[in-house]
Amino acid sequence: MTRSGHEYLASLRDGREIWLDGERVEDVTSHPAFRNTAASIARLYDLAHDSEHTPVLTQGGVHRAYAIPRSYEDLVARREAYKVWAEASFGFLGRTPDYMAGGAAGFAALPSLFRTEGYDGSAAALAYHRRLAEGDLYPTFTITNPQIDRTRSASEQEEDDLVVRVVAEKDGGIVVRGAKMIGTAAVFGNEVIVGTIEPLAPQDVEHAVCFSVPIDTPGLKFISRTSYEAQARSVFDNPLSSRFDENDALLVCDDVFVPWERVLAYRNVDVSFGMWWRTPAYLNFVHQAATRFWTKLEFLTGVAILITKANNTYQLPPVTQAIGRLLGRVAQAKAFVLAAEASYEEVDGGRGGVAPGKDISFAQRIMAGELYPQAVQEIKLLAGGGVIQLPASGEDLLHPELGPLVRKYIRSPGTPAEDRVKLLKLAWDALGSEFAGRHEQYERFYHGAPHVYLMQQAWEGDAPACEALAQACLDGYDLRSTR
Ligand SMILES: Cc1cc2nc3c(=O)[nH]c(=O)nc-3n(C[C@H](O)[C@H](O)[C@H](O)COP(=O)(O)OP(=O)(O)OC[C@H]3O[C@@H](n4cnc5c(N)ncnc54)[C@H](O)[C@@H]3O)c2cc1C
Repeated sequence: MTRSGHEYLASLRDGREIWLDGERVEDVTSHPAFRNTAASIARLYDLAHDSEHTPVLTQGGVHRAYAIPRSYEDLVARREAYKVWAEASFGFLGRTPDYMAGGAAGFAALPSLFRTEGYDGSAAALAYHRRLAEGDLYPTFTITNPQIDRTRSASEQEEDDLVVRVVAEKDGGIVVRGAKMIGTAAVFGNEVIVGTIEPLAPQDVEHAVCFSVPIDTPGLKFISRTSYEAQARSVFDNPLSSRFDENDALLVCDDVFVPWERVLAYRNVDVSFGMWWRTPAYLNFVHQAATRFWTKLEFLTGVAILITKANNTYQLPPVTQAIGRLLGRVAQAKAFVLAAEASYEEVDGGRGGVAPGKDISFAQRIMAGELYPQAVQEIKLLAGGGVIQLPASGEDLLHPELGPLVRKYIRSPGTPAEDRVKLLKLAWDALGSEFAGRHEQYERFYHGAPHVYLMQQAWEGDAPACEALAQACLDGYDLRSTR
């Protein structure tokens, strides 16, 4: 059954080992670097648990993202659920629980993939899905190897144990050691699944392991990046970073014991790679992410419209055209979601499930990674210096001497100073702050680096159809057509 936000917050007070600025964080729900974002996530749980959105967000008392979609209509219903949560954070919480929930549903759609001669992880894969769905848990994931030296495979790094690997087998499970990046939202999660989405070399067999453990598992450490929430002056001054800083953390496994029932892949490079790519897990990720991306563009475009209206530039033809271009980009982002659903495919060898179309889902990553920085630049161009020429905080507006000055000089016709400062501070938080910079990097990399996904598109895209069409044109004439 779904949990209330209150129950979710209580689940985070479990003694997890989170480090920030050289200090161990006792309780993420009350710490100034995390508490507002934890509360924002709790609100998502409340929306699903008991609100007007509950029928859209759940099915049979379980979040809809956990359902294995069996038809086009199921995909549409799942997207409608994704959209409600995406709108609740204006697209700035990327790794809400529904992201990895789709991954778990993807594993459950094709459990046979986890069954090999050497190890059968199919029961663990199904148990993972069932445990998360029934407990309404927040699943997070670290499935990228630390960069260290990208020219060497996991087992060939200059020291052992830099990348998570199995160091011992014990009664009832395995012991793992090493690091993984980047645990987005892991500090707010209930479980983290540790694996490798990149292909591993045949010699990396000790690293070819995938397991999911509770965040408070002994030996599991999360080293947080700078907290933008902690840096935020107030909600008025930093309305996004103060409430939607989903955090990113380095995961360190310091001899962590993992029981077999939590091990999905074991010493098998084909399974550790195929579980993401041959099940619908990755396509389900993109379905959530593409819906969120579309929502975020809607939000940013809305901010652009409000700024240009406040600055009284909206009706200038070049500005109206720029808004038109942004609205076209919103439609483009939406079109990728709808087209991936319409081109759905049955899961080969699975349990009767379907997944969004691969070709279009894969292409969405290229479009989004390229479009996001462009859209941000376009909106900054529309905003001009107003987003910089702002009082340091709302305190200046409240000050008896400064307040009247700020109100006099930071205003626009029809937009009082308070509204203008509020809008432009929101815009800068979204477009130019350190939080905004992280978002640009996120949209470029969270689904892999371009050298990976462009190569994948070259393999998976319909090259034969394109080639055949060009060839058909060539076949329609020859040298005799010279005269
Ligand atoms: C904000 C953010 C949040 C993230 N959250 C998560 C998360 O929750 N869980 C998770 O598992 N991962 C997460 N990631 C990690 C993400 O999956 C990786 O960033 C992505 O897979 C790319 O890997 P990399 O960052 O190691 O880049 P690299 O693979 O090191 O690539 C960086 C650049 O190096 C060059 N390069 C490297 N190797 C090659 C090559 N072989 N050929 C050509 N050029 C090359 C390219 O210029 C490339 O753009 C997150 C990333 C970001 C930025």
